[in-house]
Amino acid sequence: MDNLARYDAIIIGTGQAGPALAKRLSGAGMSVAIVERHLFGGTCVNTGCIPTKAMVASAYAARVTQRAREYGIAIGGEIAVDMRAVKARKDAISSRSRTGVETMLRGLAHCAVYHGHARFQSAHEIVVGDAALSADRIFINVGGRASVPPLPGLDRVAYLTNSSMMTLDVAPPHLVIVGGSYVGLEFGQMFRRFGSKVTIIEMAPRLVQREDADISAAIHEILTREGIDVRLNAKCIRVAGENGRVTARVDCTEGSPAVEGTHLLLAVGRTPNTDDLGLEAAGVRCDGHGYVDVDDQLETNVPGVWALGDCNGKGAFTHTAYNDFEIVAANLLDRGSRRVSDRIAAYALYIDPPLGRAGLTESAARERGHSVLVGTRPMSRIGRAIEKGETDGLMKVVVDASSHEILGASILGTGGDEVIHCLLDAMYAKAPYPLLQRAMHIHPTVAEFIPTVLGELSPSKL
Ligand SMILES: Cc1cc2nc3c(=O)[nH]c(=O)nc-3n(C[C@H](O)[C@H](O)[C@H](O)COP(=O)(O)OP(=O)(O)OC[C@H]3O[C@@H](n4cnc5c(N)ncnc54)[C@H](O)[C@@H]3O)c2cc1C
Repeated sequence: MDNLARYDAIIIGTGQAGPALAKRLSGAGMSVAIVERHLFGGTCVNTGCIPTKAMVASAYAARVTQRAREYGIAIGGEIAVDMRAVKARKDAISSRSRTGVETMLRGLAHCAVYHGHARFQSAHEIVVGDAALSADRIFINVGGRASVPPLPGLDRVAYLTNSSMMTLDVAPPHLVIVGGSYVGLEFGQMFRRFGSKVTIIEMAPRLVQREDADISAAIHEILTREGIDVRLNAKCIRVAGENGRVTARVDCTEGSPAVEGTHLLLAVGRTPNTDDLGLEAAGVRCDGHGYVDVDDQLETNVPGVWALGDCNGKGAFTHTAYNDFEIVAANLLDRGSRRVSDRIAAYALYIDPPLGRAGLTESAARERGHSVLVGTRPMSRIGRAIEKGETDGLMKVVVDASSHEILGASILGTGGDEVIHCLLDAMYAKAPYPLLQRAMHIHPTVAEFIPTVLGELSPSKL
């Protein structure tokens, strides 16, 4: 091809792995091209973690203000949520981060930034608009988007996804959410706190069903106590609507077969952005869901082509995408031999109180054949939670009875997203649980009860 621009490396996407990788590679003296078709920073910065957590913070402030009297604080006048101000705050935080990514990339030595859609022409050539680029090393970091299920009627109804939710500057009178997992629950609770009536439709028998049943039951109770209507065992089978009304018809054994509201949010999972990337031209293989097949070091079946972040199906979080960058950079530049299989699953669900998770659930540990010991404690028996007036939730630690290895933990409660790291780090250190029992923790904290819980282990009853 004429006017082919040659680089040492091409990175497609500026999500959570691409920019950091561009910095490392260009810092190592390589010429790098990085391509972004939409907003710098990708999902996390623009429509995912950062804006949603900014909104969760506003929702928390609303909730605390409503509960002010419980803390002995009198607020004169009516408490109102100013959704325009909530959005403006969220936009400012998100935009600072987006600008930071773009400025960093444009300031890198030996790094060319292309704005446009990248598509493979062959294993080592891509086109972006009129430009043709080639490199021996190509890194795919294209992320994913909200899945839109083929629901009858959806083509005639205005619906929202996590992306279009970002443009709302009003609280919908009645938000109907299809999907009772992480994204659906975060939006559900925050908009309930902003004043919306909220109904969550989930086809499974419980919310966040990959968690243990006791954790999902506690989450269910927290949400319903705030007035969220949860419809379980209810599969949304068709939607209809006009003039600011939307109706979701559900296939259910109990409750009304029609859920009516004013706005519809789809929160039923993610689809990788690999369908329009020309992967066939490159010979790069995907699985049946469109996730790029990679080995334990994130290289695809085509030598010199890697896939990082959500698009490889090995993780669905910012920290997994960033960890992919660390693995690839260490192996390419530091002669490392890091592998995806060395990492321990960890994530948080940012309802309030948050759920921090590490490793295996109790049921997954049982399924894998471990002889399981479990320790639990309700937050209502944790001093710090009582003092803060935030006693919802429980902590739970799962250990292997014979090896004494910590297999996993769930901390649903105030500070759960932070406290979980005590256990996660001990798991990375492969520390047997009795070691943690001897650790002196700071009082008053939630974490100070980890040694206590480990001293009260009993055989799993699942
Ligand atoms: C509502 C919501 C809340 C979330 N909250 C959290 C959270 O609290 N914590 C957490 O860890 N994770 C969270 N996540 C998940 C997190 O946002 C993603 O896991 C993370 O952003 C994935 O990063 P990535 O680098 O794989 O891809 P992305 O961030 O999606 O970036 C991919 C980039 O590639 C670009 N691109 C795609 N195709 C092309 C192409 N052909 N050419 C050029 N550019 C292209 C896209 O425009 C995009 O900018 C959340 C997600 C959602 C939806």
